[in-house]
Amino acid sequence: MTASLVGRQAVVIGAGISGLAAARALAGHFEQVTVLERDSLPVQACERAGTPQARHVHALLAGGLKALAGLFPGFEDDLVRAGAVPLRAGLDIRLERPGFDPFPVRDLGLLTYAVSRPAIEFAVRLRTTEQGKVQLQPQCRVIGIVSSADGAAAVGVRWEDAYGAAHMLPTDLVIDASGRAVPTLAFLQSTGRAAPGETSIGVDIGYASATYEIPEHAPSDWKGVMTFPIAPQSSRGALMLPLEGRRWMVSLGGRGADKPPSDDTGFLDCVRQLRTPTIYNAIRDAKRIGNVARYAFPQSVRRHFEHVRAFPRGLLPIGDAVCRFNPVYGQGMSVAAQEAVALRDLLTRLARRSDPLAKLAPAFFAELQSLLEAPWALAAIPDFVFPETIGRRPPDLKRHLKFAAALMRLAAREPAVHKLTVEVQHLLKPRSVYRRPLLMARVLMEMMRD
Ligand SMILES: Cc1cc2nc3c(=O)[nH]c(=O)nc-3n(C[C@H](O)[C@H](O)[C@H](O)COP(=O)(O)OP(=O)(O)OC[C@H]3O[C@@H](n4cnc5c(N)ncnc54)[C@H](O)[C@@H]3O)c2cc1C
Repeated sequence: MTASLVGRQAVVIGAGISGLAAARALAGHFEQVTVLERDSLPVQACERAGTPQARHVHALLAGGLKALAGLFPGFEDDLVRAGAVPLRAGLDIRLERPGFDPFPVRDLGLLTYAVSRPAIEFAVRLRTTEQGKVQLQPQCRVIGIVSSADGAAAVGVRWEDAYGAAHMLPTDLVIDASGRAVPTLAFLQSTGRAAPGETSIGVDIGYASATYEIPEHAPSDWKGVMTFPIAPQSSRGALMLPLEGRRWMVSLGGRGADKPPSDDTGFLDCVRQLRTPTIYNAIRDAKRIGNVARYAFPQSVRRHFEHVRAFPRGLLPIGDAVCRFNPVYGQGMSVAAQEAVALRDLLTRLARRSDPLAKLAPAFFAELQSLLEAPWALAAIPDFVFPETIGRRPPDLKRHLKFAAALMRLAAREPAVHKLTVEVQHLLKPRSVYRRPLLMARVLMEMMRD
């Protein structure tokens, strides 16, 4: 094997964003990377059964875009060719927050793109497979991970083809990018290991989404709108983003009894009852394309694989299989892409050492902790504003909330603070930047004014 290789064969379970990004990360370090996906994979960007969330707005954060461009140089151009709409952060999305309708509009010098989730996945899929080493096998449902005789390692996967025939593929590394971690959890159980502990936050969120043709007379001062409710009195909010093909997608979200309906009249009524009329006015005469789609998201879950004793060699869960975030904050794809970059960099470092596969899982889980800290906290803290949210509240929650409110007021007044908060929300900077002494002092002063 050449110096950069750590194994001959790797298998990735699932061809979602994290599976594809991980396959790209592995390509420099294995002779062959096989991605097994249970769905058939269309030769164009369209929805498929295995990723029902693709029928809802998917924002790609700047941090995720950067990670994807790191894996696939020129990825932004791929999105533009797919019809993505460029969005200048601070300028192109009308941000409607209680007390700021809209939040001050200014160019923060950050570019992102709005495009459908199927188009993002398709662009990633095309780039992943242009890598000669990555072989995509659709209609292959993984039914189990094969253990070594002593249970210490994963040494293969069993899968079923479209006709129900079973197959086995020996491998040096299995990446579980199946979204729900079912193969990994079953493997841990079958080899006598305890299931990983989980941190969960019960948010009980419902999504309802619909797509519209953008009318001729659409407003020209914004390209998309995000409307926040007055929390905790209401949890109904909305995000409307442009998509390729001159369309808007509107996703409504609400918790508990506030969940949005999926029937035509109920959906439009719900849009009309949002805190501001901006989205309703934009879509009320627009032509809807297709039906209203719904999605129920009961809880955010973070699985602590890092605490599993003697985690099996040759197995690594990634993406939603490790951590499913409340989708309202638009982080899942971006974190998955960042994890893939971390995996690639780790393999590059480990390839120089003896038996890299023995060190991979503990080292990857250690990297994950810092990678997941910011997105998890960014979602969890506002989730706990709602008394119905189930989970362990941070002991200093009140202070966190006051800090966040003061920081937002400061961001509204000051472009530099505004930019910093957007960079953190877009996963470009860690949350620790808020602890810089000068900023901290100013936020504390702002808190005293409250
Ligand atoms: C309503 C909603 C809205 C969201 N909005 C956003 C957003 O705005 N921005 C954002 O970044 N993220 C968003 N997300 C999250 C995002 O969709 C995921 O975090 C992201 O797609 C990463 O997922 P993944 O690849 O790990 O898993 P998935 O997307 O679930 O992909 C898993 C893949 O594995 C396949 N698979 C499963 N089991 C098997 C098996 N046994 N054998 C073979 N294949 C298998 C599935 O068919 C699927 O293709 C949203 C999620 C939801 C639910």
